[in-house]
Amino acid sequence: MFNFFKRNKKNQQEQQVTEESIVVEKPILEKEDELIKKEESIKEEERIKEEKSFFQKLKEGLAKTRDNITSKIDNIIFKGRKIDEELLEELEEILILADVGFATTTKIIEGIKQKAKERKLIESDDIKELLAEEIYEIMEKDEAPLEITSPTIILVVGVNGVGKTTTIGKMAGRFKRQGMKVLLIAADTFRAAAIEQLEVWASRVGCDIIRHDEGSDPASVVFDGIQAAKTRKSDIIICDTAGRLHNKKNLMDELKKIYRVIQREYPSAKLETFLVLDATTGQNAVQQARVFKDATDVSGLVLTKLDGTAKGGIVISIKSELNIPVRFIGVGEGIDDLQVFKSEDYIKALFE
Ligand code: GDP
Ligand code: GDP
Ligand code: MG
Repeated sequence: MFNFFKRNKKNQQEQQVTEESIVVEKPILEKEDELIKKEESIKEEERIKEEKSFFQKLKEGLAKTRDNITSKIDNIIFKGRKIDEELLEELEEILILADVGFATTTKIIEGIKQKAKERKLIESDDIKELLAEEIYEIMEKDEAPLEITSPTIILVVGVNGVGKTTTIGKMAGRFKRQGMKVLLIAADTFRAAAIEQLEVWASRVGCDIIRHDEGSDPASVVFDGIQAAKTRKSDIIICDTAGRLHNKKNLMDELKKIYRVIQREYPSAKLETFLVLDATTGQNAVQQARVFKDATDVSGLVLTKLDGTAKGGIVISIKSELNIPVRFIGVGEGIDDLQVFKSEDYIKALFE
């Protein structure tokens, strides 16, 4: 195991101790104390079990990317081989083929070179740890965890077929499990099928949904959704939108109209705009992100279909080139196949 991972594990443990010392209340009776301790140890066991299956799932979801990057790197590392220009060129090629992107790859290779020099590392073995460290630095830059305060409106945007509606269903399930009151707004009014698809998710999750008929004004559905959310005191409102082709001006205008309605009708709600990108489209996804970033106020990204691609390096490319936090990743079609993105877990799943 690399030092990088050991170091992070230690931090995690320290954090848990401090968190626990805040949460635990002092019982009056000793008996109670014992009971609570027992309960806590069961909870802790459950937590560890959950974490394990979470990580296992992430690893499985990233299996193709892991094969593409890590196995290839293992092939260029062997005993006696030194870090030299040739090795770095081979590494560069591996990263570009995994869709890390040219600019980001160059940055990573330069970083590795510099670190190897500073630390006087010369064996090819060391390159994996250096790579993990470089990626970690890129991913952690300006990163803060997503904070959901009640009420929060999440506007979900992205081109057709990337997985917006599916992601909304999965997110709704997750927030509901966390005890939040969720309301969905079907503002993708282009096709009846899109509204029905969201309805299926709402009934599956067991949350409210506001819909109009096919072809109605999306901003008007959002207006009604917001009124309903206020009355029902929803904690989180997730709004589906039509697959905007980023070069179609009228669709972008429609999105701006939705923004105006939200800002006017619920200025006290926290507003997040999540851009959903299909990881299987590789560098194309980076291009989409650029266009959406220019036209809207994208505050977070969701990368879907990572399970179906060896190009999971796209996550690094997008973070490095656009500096928008990746909030969730999709690793399958099921309700539990949406994971909160944590760069540390992502890197561990790729390299460990
Ligand atoms: P939208 O047009 O952006 O709303 O996309 P949809 O939510 O309708 O999804 C399009 C297709 O992608 C559907 O068949 C989904 O099941 C599938 N999909 C979405 N997310 C994922 C994912 O993380 N992994 C896989 N394998 N498929 C996904
Ligand atoms: P803009 O001038 O294009 O920005 O339009 P507005 O900001 O006035 O309204 C945006 C959208 O919200 C419109 O398309 C309306 O359909 C909808 N809207 C505004 N007020 C109401 C209302 O009282 N009820 C409903 N159902 N929709 C409304
Ligand atoms: Mg959809």
